Amino acid sequence: MIKFENVSKKYPDGTTAVTDLNMEIEQGEFFVIIGPSGSGKTTTLKMVNRLIPLSEGTIFINDKKISEYDIHELRWNIGYVLQRIALFPHMSIEENIAIVPELKKWERDKIRKRVCELLEMVGLDPNIYLHRKPKELSGGQQQRVGVIRALAANPEIVLMDEPFSALDPISREKLQDDIISIQKSIQKTTIFVTHDMQEAMKLADRICIMKDGEVVQIGTPLEIMENP
Ligand code: ADP
Ligand code: ADP
Repeated sequence: MIKFENVSKKYPDGTTAVTDLNMEIEQGEFFVIIGPSGSGKTTTLKMVNRLIPLSEGTIFINDKKISEYDIHELRWNIGYVLQRIALFPHMSIEENIAIVPELKKWERDKIRKRVCELLEMVGLDPNIYLHRKPKELSGGQQQRVGVIRALAANPEIVLMDEPFSALDPISREKLQDDIISIQKSIQKTTIFVTHDMQEAMKLADRICIMKDGEVVQIGTPLEIMENP
């Protein structure tokens, strides 16, 4: 589904962030990349939706090189969740979630239905939250909206970059549970970046450990536990 072939990234200032990455992420897989700060996790993620160009190698999505996709087609089919909440403050919750469905020209009724369904999925009553502005929600609630916004237009792939690290432990645990139940109902191919091993163990189908821009180990949580 997503395949990295000899992928390296060197930034213009000469910093090598990722070296010779080779790995394959399967359809529907929840793939967690873990590693210390500076190990190349974010760089790896941002190359997938072409937020930054590769220096060497190739990334394939469904056997097609990412460079051959239309950039809009690529971005609309890849949901992206950031560490810090990035909701548009002047837009309502509904408008925030509807951004990509609207770009895709979905019909109004279909968008409304989808937004309500997603809000319910993370325990936010649409009757209450649809028309609120982001600042009228708690931090944890805003981050939940950030997560469902990334899923709104049914992307094939979701990229999450430490989406819960700014949250308090309780909100964090709730969101992890939300992710697990979302994943059970609508299996998405997901790459999830974290530096929290407990979080990785809880969520991952497979864990990829990175260090200094290289993959050190890839395996299921059980395999990682048995061969630390
Ligand atoms: P992680 O997500 O694991 O913290 P990053 O991918 O952000 O790691 O960074 C990997 C390496 O690349 C680090 O040494 C970092 O300082 C460097 N780096 C990241 N972004 C840039 C940039 N825009 N320009 C130069 N170096 C960068
Ligand atoms: P905060 O961010 O203020 O710490 P949250 O936004 O995480 O709190 O939670 C606000 C309220 O929503 C709480 O009453 C919590 O019980 C409820 N809640 C949180 N997650 C869910 C969920 N997945 N399903 C239902 N209710 C939830």
